[in-house]
Amino acid sequence: MTTSVNAEKIDISGLRKQFKDKVALSDVSLSIEPGSFTVLLGPSGSGKTTLLRCLAGIERPTAGTISLSGREVAGPRTFVGPEKRNLSMVFQDYALWPHMTVRKNIAFPLANSDIERGSREGRVTDLLERVGIAHLADNYPNELSGGEQQRVALARALSSHVGLVLFDEPLSNLDADRRDLLRIEIATLTRESGATAVYITHDQAEAFALADRIGVLNKGELVQWASPEKIYRQPASSFVARFTGVSGEFPVEVASHEGETISVKLPFAQGAMLEATRIEDSHLGVAPHVFVRAAGVSLHAETHDGGIAGSILDHAYTGRGYEHVVEIGEGRFLTKVYSSKRFERGTHVRVVIDPTQCFVMDA
Ligand code: ATP
Repeated sequence: MTTSVNAEKIDISGLRKQFKDKVALSDVSLSIEPGSFTVLLGPSGSGKTTLLRCLAGIERPTAGTISLSGREVAGPRTFVGPEKRNLSMVFQDYALWPHMTVRKNIAFPLANSDIERGSREGRVTDLLERVGIAHLADNYPNELSGGEQQRVALARALSSHVGLVLFDEPLSNLDADRRDLLRIEIATLTRESGATAVYITHDQAEAFALADRIGVLNKGELVQWASPEKIYRQPASSFVARFTGVSGEFPVEVASHEGETISVKLPFAQGAMLEATRIEDSHLGVAPHVFVRAAGVSLHAETHDGGIAGSILDHAYTGRGYEHVVEIGEGRFLTKVYSSKRFERGTHVRVVIDPTQCFVMDA
């Protein structure tokens, strides 16, 4: 596929959207690099759809500005409609034209593009092959499965060389096995196209797998804007830590801290001590908690030196190995603790927690 698209740079400043007295977005600012893949992640009602719709030109912001490659498309005195924004969109419910064949659906956006007439047919055939539906070219959307329809929608979004592709939870109506496959295709084909991508989801695994950068939204505010690695290792708040998956969260007493390293006492585990990371800028208020990432926990035999005492409550076979539930104090558990070896229920173990994968923040 050619990479001749003019990938859009996105600048959003002080964006606010209010529906009557409901504030859906409040003071969101961010800049997105051309050709990058951004995922907006947040729970239901956090404002993801509203932000995507403002970018698309479907919603008009209440305040703030949006610029695409330096051209203001939404602002106090400007509003450029969706058809003039050099973008395409992939929706949750596919939104294909039911009266057109697969080939015609994909070719349709080309009619208004500046792509040479002679190369259009070949481009559609190329896209049909790339998304694996060449054999369905003459079928109608109602003759296709959900996964096949979403492949058509992806090919259609990429057919006219737009500089920005917006994805509105495109995998949420598909089965788990189809989701994984299509997610990889979306990532590969969109990156190959060279376009800037903005993708919304409430699924943190999907966000981590796809994104160059993640914007985490909560109650209409952008609460963190960083790489997946940074969000995993340095969540900006207890909300971000919880929403991106923790194995356990416990109240602690701060014993000492120096720079980023913090030493805490687990009062529920006979005062066992734990080394953790203090998140930059976070204040340790009246209720400091430690948040533990599952990837930072390892299990060892009871005779192992170091770690804290625990006992195995349950295990689940995952194919690659076993995930354990470990009790580390009265009513306090770590979940999803991986080991290639199975530790039997009731076994006493030592639990070692990597200090860089557990954080202390105000709960
Ligand atoms: P979901 O994952 O459930 O789609 P979301 O993160 O995309 O959620 P939005 O759809 O952007 O969230 O909604 C943000 C808030 O704005 C919600 O409280 C929602 O009820 C409200 N909202 C969105 N659209 C409208 C509207 N047209 N009129 C009134 N309130 C709205």
